[in-house]
Amino acid sequence: MSAIPAVTQPSVCTLDCPDTCSLAVTVENHRITAVRGSKANPFTNGVICAKVTHSVPDFVHGPRRLRTPLLRTGKKGEGRFQPISWEEALDRTHEGLSRVIERFGTEAVVPLNYAGPHGMLAYASMDRRFFNRLGASRLHRGSLCGGVRTEAYASLFGAAPGMNPEQVEEAQLVVAWGNNVTVSNLHLMPVINRAKSKGARLVVVDPRRTKAAEQADLHVPLRPGTDLPLAFALAVELERRGGLDHKFIAQNVQGFEAYMERARQFPPEEAARICGVAAEDIRKLAQWYHQAAPAAISMGNGPERSLNGGNGIRAVFALPALAGKFGVRGGGLVNGAGFAFPKTPLLLERPGLAPRQTRLLNIVDVAAHVLDESLEPPVRALFIYSHNPLVVHPHQNRVRRALEHKEVFIVGCDVTLTDSLAYADIVLPACTAFESHDLYPAYGQHWLQRAEPVIPPVGESLPLTEIFRRLAKRFGFDAPEFHADDAALMDDALDAGDARLGGRKPSRLPAGEATPMRTGGEEFILYKNHGPRTPSGKVELHSPDLEERYGLGVPAWQPVPARHTFTLISPASALRISSTFGGLPGSDATPSLEMHPQDAARLGLFDGSLVRVWNEQGQVFLTLDITDRVPQGVVSSEKGAWIRTSPNGQTVAALAPPHHADLCGGACYNDAQVEVAAAPLGSEDGM
Ligand code: SF4
Repeated sequence: MSAIPAVTQPSVCTLDCPDTCSLAVTVENHRITAVRGSKANPFTNGVICAKVTHSVPDFVHGPRRLRTPLLRTGKKGEGRFQPISWEEALDRTHEGLSRVIERFGTEAVVPLNYAGPHGMLAYASMDRRFFNRLGASRLHRGSLCGGVRTEAYASLFGAAPGMNPEQVEEAQLVVAWGNNVTVSNLHLMPVINRAKSKGARLVVVDPRRTKAAEQADLHVPLRPGTDLPLAFALAVELERRGGLDHKFIAQNVQGFEAYMERARQFPPEEAARICGVAAEDIRKLAQWYHQAAPAAISMGNGPERSLNGGNGIRAVFALPALAGKFGVRGGGLVNGAGFAFPKTPLLLERPGLAPRQTRLLNIVDVAAHVLDESLEPPVRALFIYSHNPLVVHPHQNRVRRALEHKEVFIVGCDVTLTDSLAYADIVLPACTAFESHDLYPAYGQHWLQRAEPVIPPVGESLPLTEIFRRLAKRFGFDAPEFHADDAALMDDALDAGDARLGGRKPSRLPAGEATPMRTGGEEFILYKNHGPRTPSGKVELHSPDLEERYGLGVPAWQPVPARHTFTLISPASALRISSTFGGLPGSDATPSLEMHPQDAARLGLFDGSLVRVWNEQGQVFLTLDITDRVPQGVVSSEKGAWIRTSPNGQTVAALAPPHHADLCGGACYNDAQVEVAAAPLGSEDGM
């Protein structure tokens, strides 16, 4: 057979990252041999991160790739399986779920997926139709990541998009708040650098001295979870120095007095004490923010992961309204990008297919629900797909106990055999995005893209849409919604009547091009060409909705009691996107734990040594990295490492607490509190 010449084809990065790069994928003999950036998306402009360049060929074609359906032959978690046919896999899935439904009812089945792939079809389309029609429990997914920030944003501005990141180039001050730009929002950095070359200042608010912080004019290393007092103090200092825009506030802001009354309880000295930063730096940031026009704030995901996360983010998002920073290019917030796209989720997901309104479970609590024998009906089937809960969810040991539950039937569906799928009774092999059709909006930029498969399915894997189509057929769901092909699903995903699509059906948008999401032909600029989409039409510093749902009309502070010596944060890794790519050899090493030199000296710990990190939920062994990148009292270890990197089978997720943030029921990874000591001899071999 003669070799097929190499071709380069357009694609889009599907990973859980705000940038959504356009890609140029080299394919030889149906194999991906190289992935580079393409210029189809002007924001990402031909540049992609090293993790995707280095990992994709092995991820798609390597030895861990699932190529056939599997039947578990060993104990749950052991990882012993035998290949079976698709027919048998679908039959066994049907039998297993039907048995549970017969005994406990349809809500005993819980779909457990998250954002492995971020395309609209892979994330929520035929799968949702299937589980809706089945009458399975519904899952509230945003609480695991992103939902707190979105709820906070929407409480002030409704579904109105913020500025696209390209506008940051015009800013005179850029505040990267809890946004590890070089790792998690790569393409914002060149824009910031262009702004800096024109005289802009960069301020980084982050407990760690990130790479971006090293290039900043000011780094504010606040204690994790103390964003709220800091933002309140900035409001207070703006007021003291005449930096509030009273005319804008009078016309456009709801709840100013109630908000400021709360904020005034946190003058800079008080906030400095709580946040562990210099009061002088708070004043300096307020002064710079007051004077800069335009001034841009980009809020990352870190701040939401604590008890006060939602209110902290609300208080930060209030600053441009208080200081009158909207209405100009480069002024305001680089957030809310997801609202720029004409999504039609009701049409795509069809919640109306459900036989009745079923219960809604918080994804953060699924393990607790599985273990709750008093829950009525109990959770007796999990369908885990595009998600690795054992590695990703807080309180890992509880998740493990849930997956080990003898009476819980587990179906797993993914691209590789993840740590979580080792507990599945049946494993279904899914295609990667490179083998699938999909549409790609973004949550960090304003370009819409579509991609087609660049290679055929690897082995017997199938696109997620096709897997759920076949399951629907097996369950006898014969309504037209279950016969929709991928083109029809794309046409249900977005409003084809939206003028920005230029009269094209979503499924006909050209692959290898990006369509800008603007308003009236202009980039979105709040208070220039569009306004808040809140019930009042104003920026709601007092939110009647949050008052009704949480008793939090205006942001409120809850002190977090100190139970242990250190706060443990778990930021993103430069090797993985959350846990994706964690199965590849590049992620084999035991992760490090960053600790400040004075803390290490006090504990008598040495750089490079193995340390034991523990609390009442678990213990983890990590390699010590002594560095002043973290402040005293804070330790840091990257999230998403797989179980095999750990001598005792526990990773940092074991230490993250199960409690919820103030909004959205959010996960509180950065509230983890721990002790650290030298690891006893022999720990390398497991304990
Ligand atoms: S992970 Fe992010 S930066 Fe890397 S290629 Fe994908 S979208 Fe681009």
